[in-house]
Amino acid sequence: MNKSSYPNDGMRQLIEGYRHFFKGNPPRKGFCALHAEQIAHTQNPHSMVISCFDSRVCPEAIFATNDGHICVHRNMLNQVDTKDTSMMASLRFAVESLKVQNIVVLGHSNCNAVAKLKHLEELPSQIASWLGGAGAQYRGDTYELAIKNNVLDQLERLRQIDFIRRAMQEENLNLEGMLFYIDSGRLERFDANGQRWTLVETEE
Ligand SMILES: [Zn+2]
Repeated sequence: MNKSSYPNDGMRQLIEGYRHFFKGNPPRKGFCALHAEQIAHTQNPHSMVISCFDSRVCPEAIFATNDGHICVHRNMLNQVDTKDTSMMASLRFAVESLKVQNIVVLGHSNCNAVAKLKHLEELPSQIASWLGGAGAQYRGDTYELAIKNNVLDQLERLRQIDFIRRAMQEENLNLEGMLFYIDSGRLERFDANGQRWTLVETEE
């Protein structure tokens, strides 16, 4: 993705932040007394990221964001469950009040939640009901493909939500699917035009 192909400025910031992270730069300045006063009274995040609960995946670190730049909603399977009132409230607030430019579904390699979709009957009921309750499926011939397809399934669920569809049409809300590789730090992005996953370049 080069500068001219970013769908909006928020996506440019995410990709440039990722390159910052990939090159091993230290995290950008987080919340501190000097910074606090500037952001205390308002927030203007450019993106909402829906990420897995997995402790090895930290969106603020991967995209090297400053405070106030992204809203993050995390759960097992980076899942969009329209019965989950916490998820739906966060989505609606992000889209209609904060007017985010992007909603990113961020999957990751080695996702145990996706692997567990094959064996829901072996899990405690609370975990099985979350993972399978909205109809998530292990879809694909390989583990990696199943993880990617889960991201695409969540994007499709987002597109079915009326206020999101409206924001896509009227305000150019952009939906993105991404996959973070824990073992290499690489990031792939789903190219909706070409209908394929492409590696995010780590150089401009
Ligand atoms: Zn996971």
